[in-house]
Formats: sequence, structure tokens, C-alpha cells
Amino acid sequence: MAIDYYATLGVDRGASDSDIKKAYRRLAQQWHPDVNQEPDAAVRFKEINEAYQVLSDPERRQRYDLFGTVGSEGGTGFGGFADIFDAFFGAAAAGAGRRGRPAAGSDLRYDLRITFEEAILGTVKEIEFPVLARCDTCGGNGAKPGTQPITCPQCNGRGEVRGVRQTMLGQMINVTTCPRCKGDGKIVETPCDTCHGEGRVERRRTLQVTIPPGIDEGHQIRLANEGEAGPRSGPAGSLYVAVHVAPHPTLKREGTELIYEASVGIAQAALGTTILVPTVEGEESVEVKAGTQPGTEIRLRGKGVPYLRRAGQRGDLHVLVDIEVPQRLSREQRAALEAYADASDEIVSEQAGLFDRVIGKKPAPKRSKARRGAAGEPAGSAGGGATTAATPGGASGSADVEDGTAA
Ligand code: ZN
Repeated sequence: MAIDYYATLGVDRGASDSDIKKAYRRLAQQWHPDVNQEPDAAVRFKEINEAYQVLSDPERRQRYDLFGTVGSEGGTGFGGFADIFDAFFGAAAAGAGRRGRPAAGSDLRYDLRITFEEAILGTVKEIEFPVLARCDTCGGNGAKPGTQPITCPQCNGRGEVRGVRQTMLGQMINVTTCPRCKGDGKIVETPCDTCHGEGRVERRRTLQVTIPPGIDEGHQIRLANEGEAGPRSGPAGSLYVAVHVAPHPTLKREGTELIYEASVGIAQAALGTTILVPTVEGEESVEVKAGTQPGTEIRLRGKGVPYLRRAGQRGDLHVLVDIEVPQRLSREQRAALEAYADASDEIVSEQAGLFDRVIGKKPAPKRSKARRGAAGEPAGSAGGGATTAATPGGASGSADVEDGTAA
């Protein structure tokens, strides 16, 4: 017993547990016979493992430090597989595996398209889909009627077999699903004629799915046990109904709130009006008060989306009022606005003509006070010669030369 375990791992005698573990990991990966092609790699690997087995166990390390040996138990080396497994994968990975339980059926996904209104108000939808369902002939166990599945002789019903295996990362316990019964722990000697021993057959299933009010795009409804039946009486999977909501032409949804962007004219905003707002229950008349400012929000309480988890509560519908400034004015509109500007002492630009734009000359703002009395005349007549060029130019000249019928 001349082996120096500390030298084998390349650590000094005072090395901490974590230093030993680190050194071991590095060396084990370096000297693993699957990786390292040197002829003595397997021997080195065995020595490294042995050294680690001793030095990672406080009691055995103490004995080794005192006596230079750990006695007979030190020779075999591979006492604690879990420790080696743990060194590579962490404790959680050790011992994972199924034990004789029948496999569960797969979960299924069904994509369901509904309208905007259906998502908010809720609905019931009938869906039809193909599914592996329990075989009626054998009741799902896969055995021909009159016979029973027997305990698997290879795994004695455990559903898994254990073995020791060399891998890239070291030697470890290898727990695999039993190849004979495929994890069931039971085998069918005389299979059912209908399902050939599978215990399930393909069918079309029709279901009523209740869509709760307030559901949104991307939500999934889980229907337990409506997925695939498990093979040979295994538990069924779930059916996930993935909901897709069609957009609304004018309403936007943000969670429980609905947003409607309304647009009114400047006169409507100033004088007040009534607009029709779409809701999921139909159109609703909404008053826009005189003097409404751009960006004003009118809230229709309780006209939004129901809360999924709070019965009876609903979000609001927010009407955002935009005020549209006309980009083109008829003669009459322009005259009216100029009269308004006069009356409210606002300075407005002179009407721009084609000729001004071509030569890049901007019309000078003119105080409306100076023109008092000129309102109502065709604009430009009070100005210089340049503006007159636009008037016969027609629609191509500027926005304001259209005839009054456009209004
Ligand atoms: Zn069957």
C-alpha cells in the first residue's frame, strides 16, 4: 500500500473537501478511458477513483492519514456510486427513474379560433379531434378478454433494470426502463385483437368546451384526462385548448381594458357632439362635451373585459378622443375659419398659392386685424400678385382652390 492518494489527486495533505472534489472531477474527466487513449488510462482512472473514495470520506481519510492505509475496504474503490454520480450530476439526478408505473398518455393541443366578442362574453364551442382512446374490447389492459397481463419476469414488475456502465463522464449506475415490459412491470401474453395489446385505439372525440368570459389570445384551457389514453391502462394525458382570438376592426384590447380611438372634427370638439362607440354588446351613443381637448379620455365603466378570476367584475372601455384638423378646406370652410380667426384675434397665414411654393417664397403671416373687413372675400385678393397665380391653377395648385361642394 504505497499509493499516495494525495499525490494521485495532485492535492496536498491539508486540502479541503471541495479542493479534493474539484481535483477529482478534473482528473476523472481527463483520464476517463473513453476519452484518454493512453494505454494506462484505465489504471490511472481506477487509481483516481480509489483515491477519491478514500479522501472524500472523512472517516476513511482520517484513518489513511494515521495509518497510511484504509484496510481491506479501501481496495475495491467503488463503494459509493451515488457519490460519483453526484460529483458529475448533482444529487437530484441520482436515483431518478420510473418504477413499474404504466406510462401516461400524451397531452394533446387543440388550436381554437374564436371571435373578439366570444372571448369577452364567453361561449361554448364544440370541438372534434382524433385521439388514442381506451380500447373497449380489453378495457385498456391490452390482454385478450379472458386473459390477464402477467408480471414481467425480467424486472419482476419493477419496470426498470439496473446496471453499471462506463460513460464519458465516469462509471455510474445505469437505471433503464425494462426492455421487456417497457416500464409497465407487466406483460401481455395474449394480446387483445382490437388494439394488438396497446390497450388503446384511435378514435374521433367530440367535446363541448366552455370558454369563460375574459379569455385572451394565447390562453390555454386544460381539460384533464381528455388527452391520449396511456398504453395498457396508463393514465390519460390532458387536452390543452389553445385559444386564438380574432382582432376587432376598431376596438383594441389590453388585458381587461378596451380602447377605442374616436375622431371628431374641430367644430365638434368645440361645440360638442354625440358619437357612436362600438362595444361588444353593440353600438353606444357617447356624448363628447363642448370644449373637448385632444387626447381626452371618456371612460365607459364596465364595458370592458370581464376579469377571469373575479366574477362580476369588468374592465372599462376607454374612448380616446382625437381631434382632426382638416388638411384641405373648401372655399366656404376657409372663409368660415378666417372669420373665426378674426373673431378670436388669431393670426393666420395667408393662403399659399402654387407660384409661392415653386419659387420657395413663404407667404408672410398677416395679422388678421389688418385685414379686418376683408373676411369673406376670396383669399389672396388682398395680397400681392403672386397668389393670384394659384386661383386659376385649379386643384393642382393648392388645397384651397377646390369648389365648395367638397364640404
Ligand atoms: Zn384492446
